Amino acid sequence: MKRVLTGLQPSGELTLGNYIGGIRQLIKYQDDYELFVFVPDLHSITVEQDPSLLKERIRKNIALYIASGLNPKKCTLYIQSENLYHANLSWILECHSYMGEMSRMTQFKEKSASKKNVSCGLFTYPILMAADILLYDADLVPTGADQKQHVELARNLAERFNSKYGETFNIPEPLIPEIGARIKDLQEPTKKMSKSSTNEKAIIRLLDEPEVIRKKIMSAVTDSDNKIYFDEENKPGISNLLTIYSVLKDISIEESVNLFKDSNYGTFKKAVADIVVEKITNLQNKYNEIINSNLIDEILDEGYKKTNEIAKKKYYEVKEKVGLGRTDNIRLYQ
Ligand code: ATP
Ligand code: MG
Repeated sequence: MKRVLTGLQPSGELTLGNYIGGIRQLIKYQDDYELFVFVPDLHSITVEQDPSLLKERIRKNIALYIASGLNPKKCTLYIQSENLYHANLSWILECHSYMGEMSRMTQFKEKSASKKNVSCGLFTYPILMAADILLYDADLVPTGADQKQHVELARNLAERFNSKYGETFNIPEPLIPEIGARIKDLQEPTKKMSKSSTNEKAIIRLLDEPEVIRKKIMSAVTDSDNKIYFDEENKPGISNLLTIYSVLKDISIEESVNLFKDSNYGTFKKAVADIVVEKITNLQNKYNEIINSNLIDEILDEGYKKTNEIAKKKYYEVKEKVGLGRTDNIRLYQ
């Protein structure tokens, strides 16, 4: 079975967009692949974070993923910073990366353009990402357009290392997700809904109170045409609500349009709010059962043990090949 590895950025509390476009996809992967899912908390500190918020979000997001259907019996869940080999391998790979290739990373250019104090971590984080992938000989890495270049770097570093020191790393491939529904911002429906958005009215968080969710949907920006049909270009607000309704009801857009073609916007929005609240309430009930239980720690402890063993083996193989430390110094850590 192919090994798929993916990270879940704790950059904000999860939204309906993350649920529809991200979590549901992962849930499919857990049946088809050996799935490794980690929280890349070391990556999050490439930009400024509030320490207590970060810690809280890591736990909350793990609980939300489990409440949404990620099954810890079918996948391995772990936290990057708890496994010391990620950063160690990253350093060795950094010493095999070139300034030229790193300077071509478009994400860095975009992310650093508007910032005053750009951390060195933001520049080198694609190398840490390569370490995250190569430590586990991942076969496939789910990759959006923005991360494609980084998977390419991981491939190049693996090939470079293998040709210098002999076969060590598996060469990973990007796994391009099926094109799923993209959920839009409720206030500016031409933009996508993002968990790091600053306008709370524009996004539905999975932990929002039902009444808050209703209000946000009822005040979603639409148009003045008062006809319900799907046209993303001219009616982005209504089309977004149709998408949300169809995905959560598991019916086609045409079926939804048929159901509401004679309704006014108020009735339609209320129906959308009803289904969103129903789904999110189910999810929140499961979340409340586990957030304060030992279950999350048990799952993460188990994930740590399993991944630490794999990572340690790979790291010491690398260390030996590069000539670091004494021969057989792995015994110090056994
Ligand atoms: P950020 O603002 O921090 O980038 P985000 O909400 O865009 O947060 P990501 O961490 O970038 O979320 O992505 C997590 C997963 O959620 C990915 O699989 C991504 O494709 C999916 N996703 C994010 N936003 C949406 C959306 N609006 N509609 C559908 N899927 C989405
Ligand atoms: Mg994003």
